[in-house]
Amino acid sequence: MVSAAAAADFSGASALEFTRAAVAFGQRPAGSAANLKLQAYIESKLKPLRCQISYDAFTAQTPTGAVPMRNIIAKFPGTSGFSIVITGHFDTKPMPGRVFVGANDGGSSTGVLLEMARAVSSMNHGDDIYLVFFDGEEAFGEWSDTNGTFGSRHLADKWSREGFLPHVKALINVDMIGDKDLDIVQETNSSARLLRLVWKTAADMGYGKFFLQEEMATEDDHLPFLRKGVNALDLIDFDYGPNNAYWHNEQDTMDKLSAHSLQVVGSVLMEVIRKLQ
Ligand SMILES: [Zn+2]
Repeated sequence: MVSAAAAADFSGASALEFTRAAVAFGQRPAGSAANLKLQAYIESKLKPLRCQISYDAFTAQTPTGAVPMRNIIAKFPGTSGFSIVITGHFDTKPMPGRVFVGANDGGSSTGVLLEMARAVSSMNHGDDIYLVFFDGEEAFGEWSDTNGTFGSRHLADKWSREGFLPHVKALINVDMIGDKDLDIVQETNSSARLLRLVWKTAADMGYGKFFLQEEMATEDDHLPFLRKGVNALDLIDFDYGPNNAYWHNEQDTMDKLSAHSLQVVGSVLMEVIRKLQ
């Protein structure tokens, strides 16, 4: 018999397979046919689980025109009236004329979230746990305050209007967390107390060497929530290949990732969720 605790364990190997499946759809920028196919795949993996699936669909005004986008939200209900939210993006950066499949950037966050869904589904938790798959994290062309993070900005506004944000105990965003050579920086815009909790948890689990003391400011899907006062953190490894050489180009492929790195991040997130209860 498998104990409840063991059943709730996060599998890095499984997360890697989910990532591989997402990457197999090829380039999947917001609004593309491949992006819609990936959405259907994500839904097919969530539907058998004990969660409520909802959508945040909208049309984004991008420098290349209006683009339909849709965030996918899986809610695993608890009883406390509070929520813990784990987020990541599933789109890849639109790169006309190039083959960019975003194994780490877009793929790894999708894989971790899908494996978390499986693990959270068999875990005891008092708080509602939300797993949010953001569309449109990537910019169409050059990144700016209004080009990129389309999905997270839309959901932060929606949840703010609905009065939901005060119920959020913590929001942790993951991005580019599959690199074989995992080194997660301390993102300086993030909530310091949430960062300390994650770093201490990682150290206690023997994963301290993957969570650096180095600080770096990053604009990512956590920011729209931080700006609205949410206790939010971004977990990102922005050191992907020599001098970040694999980022946003043809070299961001599956062979650069490892199940172990996904295991480290997923296991730490599961333990942090337990501690936040
Ligand atoms: Zn990117």
